[in-house]
Amino acid sequence: MIVEPNGVIGILGGGQLGRMLSLAAARLGLKTHIYTPEDHSPAGQVADAVTIGDYKDADRLKDFGDLVNVVTYEFENVPAETVDILAANHALVAPGGKALSIAQDRLVEKEFVNSLGARTAPFHAVDDLASLEVGLGVIGRPAILKTRRLGYDGKGQTTIGAANGDLSLTWDEANRKAWEEIGARPSILEGFIDFEMEISIIGARGRNGEIRCYDAPRNIHKGGILRQSVVPSGAPDGAVKNAIAITSKILDALDYAGVIGVEFFVEKSGGVIVNEFAPRVHNSGHWTSDACAVSQFEQHIRAVAGWPLGDPRRHSDCIMENLIGDEVERWRDLSREANTCIHLYGKRDASPGRKMGHVTRIRAR
Ligand code: AMP
Repeated sequence: MIVEPNGVIGILGGGQLGRMLSLAAARLGLKTHIYTPEDHSPAGQVADAVTIGDYKDADRLKDFGDLVNVVTYEFENVPAETVDILAANHALVAPGGKALSIAQDRLVEKEFVNSLGARTAPFHAVDDLASLEVGLGVIGRPAILKTRRLGYDGKGQTTIGAANGDLSLTWDEANRKAWEEIGARPSILEGFIDFEMEISIIGARGRNGEIRCYDAPRNIHKGGILRQSVVPSGAPDGAVKNAIAITSKILDALDYAGVIGVEFFVEKSGGVIVNEFAPRVHNSGHWTSDACAVSQFEQHIRAVAGWPLGDPRRHSDCIMENLIGDEVERWRDLSREANTCIHLYGKRDASPGRKMGHVTRIRAR
């Protein structure tokens, strides 16, 4: 199946990723139709069509599926039911439901990654205070407690036993506090990795099984939110090669079509550990819009539309910086800087922690 120019790509989700996917599709002469519960979504502002609907509204989803040639998504928490409804109505969804269901559950995701022979942080399933205590006995402190589902940008996670933690609490009290902090929900306890740096691989797999990966950015997080991606990363070549090999295994095992973002910890020894993956375009790949001939957004559209994948090589070194909350006000100064590409997402409310835009500073290689 190939979606030809003037064909329509349906996108579940109306955020900035859907917006940048729509802009990339438009350049290829393809149209996008956004499905989102949100009025005035960042993606809806630039797409050809928008359906405002609930992700569980079977009638709306059916109508949407009838109007598009292929359906993709821009966030990984699309309910499984949405994909089931679309599939029952013969809509083609890419990447498929398997990638979504694995990525939505941190426990299933880690087991899947391990089953491919790749390493993750040591982990232990936590369903109550008793299993948390057992997990801490196995993994030791410090450790990170994360909800299995629906966590993002550092939300739904807390550290237990950090050197800078509250020393006035007994261990029992600290465990209870952590358990309550994450909402007493099914969780996973992860060993704390003393990493040298974090990198990610933005990889793509075409419908014919062809795989292309971008150079790895080094990712700098604060408070669990990505602040900067720096390319080249400075990671040892062997670590990047390994990370690309693991990404390729994940893509093949999922029989994937589209772009994936896989996050890695690089150890001091040069070893790589998978943190998590997102079955979609990824914030740490935004720099590809300005430093590569074919961005991750165009690559994703090419893959789901059945086109040949583009060349992922970069022509520039770069630093991508997120504009979070009221940092977006810096657009006035940033717009005076040379070699600085500004991307603003059209969001009205700059609430704290909200991703409002990003800039990429590029330098020819
Ligand atoms: P996540 O939501 O799992 O991507 O976590 C957000 C950020 O928290 C990561 O990018 C790391 O900076 C940090 N982090 C998460 N898990 C671990 C871990 N097991 N060890 C050390 N740092 C971690």
